[in-house]
Amino acid sequence: MSSLTRADAERRAQIIDVTAYQVELDLSRGDLPDHTTFESRSTITFTATAGASTFLDVKAAEVRSIELNGTLLDLASVADGRVTLPDLAADNAVVVEATMGYSNDGQGLHRAVDPADSQAYLYGHLFLDAAPKVFACFDQPDLKAPYTIVVTAPEHWIVLGNGAATQAIPGRWELATTQPLATYFVTICAGPYASVTDEHDGIPLGIHARASLAQELSDQAPGMLQVTKDAFDYYHQLFDIRYPFGSYHQVFVPEFNAGAMENPGCVTFRDTYLFRGAATQDEILTRATTITHEMAHMWFGDLVTMDWWDDLWLNESFAEYMAHRTLTAITDSDDAWVDSTMARKAWGYAAERAPSTHPVAGSPAPDADSALQNFDGISYAKGAAVLGQLVAHLGDEAFVTGVTAYLKEHAYGNAALADFLGAMETASWRDLSSWAQAWLTTAGVDTIGAHQMGDGVRITRTRSEQAPADRPHAVDVAGWTDGEQVLHVRASLDTDEVTVPVSAGGRAALLVPNASDLTWARSALSQDSLAVLPTQLGQVGEPQHRAVVWVALTDALALAEVDPRLVVETFAQAWPVEDNPSILSRAGLLLTSRVLGEYLPDADVPAAAETSAAAARARLDSAEPGSSQALAAARVLAAATPDADLLGRWAGGTDLPEGLLGDRDFRWLVLRALAVAGAVSADELEAAAAQDSSLQGKLSALAARAALPTEADKEWAWDQLVGDHDRSNYERNALATGFWAGRHTDLVRPYVVAFHRDIPALEGRVGQDALARVATLAYPRTVVEEATAAATREALASGDLSPAVRRALVDQQSVLREVLASRAAFGG
Ligand SMILES: [Zn+2]
Repeated sequence: MSSLTRADAERRAQIIDVTAYQVELDLSRGDLPDHTTFESRSTITFTATAGASTFLDVKAAEVRSIELNGTLLDLASVADGRVTLPDLAADNAVVVEATMGYSNDGQGLHRAVDPADSQAYLYGHLFLDAAPKVFACFDQPDLKAPYTIVVTAPEHWIVLGNGAATQAIPGRWELATTQPLATYFVTICAGPYASVTDEHDGIPLGIHARASLAQELSDQAPGMLQVTKDAFDYYHQLFDIRYPFGSYHQVFVPEFNAGAMENPGCVTFRDTYLFRGAATQDEILTRATTITHEMAHMWFGDLVTMDWWDDLWLNESFAEYMAHRTLTAITDSDDAWVDSTMARKAWGYAAERAPSTHPVAGSPAPDADSALQNFDGISYAKGAAVLGQLVAHLGDEAFVTGVTAYLKEHAYGNAALADFLGAMETASWRDLSSWAQAWLTTAGVDTIGAHQMGDGVRITRTRSEQAPADRPHAVDVAGWTDGEQVLHVRASLDTDEVTVPVSAGGRAALLVPNASDLTWARSALSQDSLAVLPTQLGQVGEPQHRAVVWVALTDALALAEVDPRLVVETFAQAWPVEDNPSILSRAGLLLTSRVLGEYLPDADVPAAAETSAAAARARLDSAEPGSSQALAAARVLAAATPDADLLGRWAGGTDLPEGLLGDRDFRWLVLRALAVAGAVSADELEAAAAQDSSLQGKLSALAARAALPTEADKEWAWDQLVGDHDRSNYERNALATGFWAGRHTDLVRPYVVAFHRDIPALEGRVGQDALARVATLAYPRTVVEEATAAATREALASGDLSPAVRRALVDQQSVLREVLASRAAFGG
């Protein structure tokens, strides 16, 4: 089905105005095994230009009837998910009855069966254009209307949605009429969900998850509720607008494509956020950041919604910035910003290096599908950093005043970038046109360098070659020698070079531009600084500065400016003395998955794996048993160690680090490492799966089985991934993740061709969102050969790829090319 074009949306918005939606969903057979459809009845009242015609969106298994102003329409006119509504009156009512299909790709009304207890769970994820798969509607973000929803469900289920749900009679749930909502924000969650409820400042709160996760839910809900309550207080005070959507439910749902979705009053989260084993502090922090991110959307995105998808970045940049700001305020700790540097900005800089990079704002989004492609590290991480620069540029008071004015002026309606900038200009008495052009509407990243001179520090700004812009930076530079900070200067860098005098202090062995990560820029470490990283980095006192160095090192690695062996050396010395959970986790991943997995030539891997495992062992030995640091170290040790005996003992439950006995997820991590090494059989994996009947266990077993290095197992896994097996989005992701793991190039090489043939062919069977993910995960990045890149080039030239597959191929080929360039520069 083709996606909605901006031109069509604008035309429709000129003709109609939606007054209200009444939706009835019959999910009463949703608990029956293998049930695939549900009944949907939509009544839409709307005003129109009399005599005009427009179209309605309905993507049904079968449309039963369409009645417009009392007249039945010919069902033969339903085509490509649309039906024309002819000869409209000034006031109209259309009633559509349809049979809809449940989805299993996370888009629409997703239905998942929990293998732990065979119970079915439903949730609606209607972003970005899946609403017509649940009810007939005018599916575009600027036609907002209130919803009144009635749901019939099995009597042992609960139903949740945007409006407060009450059970009128057993199995019949009535949801309170909502405030005006965009179609993509509507959700229904239904199933035998377990619940924890609370209340704060007059707002009813609920947290929900599958029944098989009830224990995890009750253990972890208090912490999440505390974050929620503190964030409500913070936002109420900051925005000066009460939370506008009544109750606030947070529902942890299975097989969710994204991290979470900001449905007003009923936020959905991926339920892997409910930790069923040990979790590191950065994992808990990530979940808290997601909670505060979605809450920020209640105001920014939900109360005020963008006119069209091309301003989606503004929602995400704002929520990303606010999430970290809020968490920092309510926890009185900078950990959220350190995590932002390690996890989010590293993601954004990688997006900036790819040929698909784009300006934060103003990327053309001629249709809904193309808008989805720009929903990336630029929209989130760079956008958030740019808002940080805007705060530095205007001052915080003007920024907050502008945000509040913007929200109040457009409450319950829609707005565009120009409205936001206008509010900022009014609040600050500043003209933002050149600032916005440099930071928002021009792509690319500047490089900040620093050189220590006799009596000062020269800070340089090198503009992006592809898209030069005159970006002003609020930036700092710091330097250390053997752990002593010998200089720290701040500067407003609005030219290509500035020299800041330094009064005292000695010469810095390690000099770090953008040391506090105030701006969005490549932090270019000099060759001298890079060379001393192994000995100097671990001695730097503040985690924020160390995080900036790790991200700079990641960037230099990708640009073939630094030998991957230096990354191993740095890891070997700095990681064992690292304490920050985000740095431990992210640097650990960089080392195990990228450096050991891709960058190093095969011949160097055994020794590097020994070195890395020794560093992980040292960190494990020095960590407090059972701590976040110990868990991070155990994970890296499991992923890096060539010691199959150790892994075998861990899999068998002996010699495990404290707190990990009985931890099913850690056991799967170990089993997967054994599988990659060919040190466990398919039968043994099956036995392990039988001991863990959970959804997560089922997925982990698939990933481990796909990782087994035999021809038969690879053949089985590939067929399961792309064949006609009714696999869910998460099952495909698990198979794709396991498939390419390890260094079995000769074994998997034939699948490079298979990838380029079979993955694009999933189009039509898998939604764009899920397809983008599986195409990314299934890309043959570990076959580090020119032929792999060439196969991708050929596929891209063929021209008939969907936007999701095309974008995944462009980005993954770019990452592969970075590794190829590194191998060319440093041997291998
Ligand atoms: Zn968001």
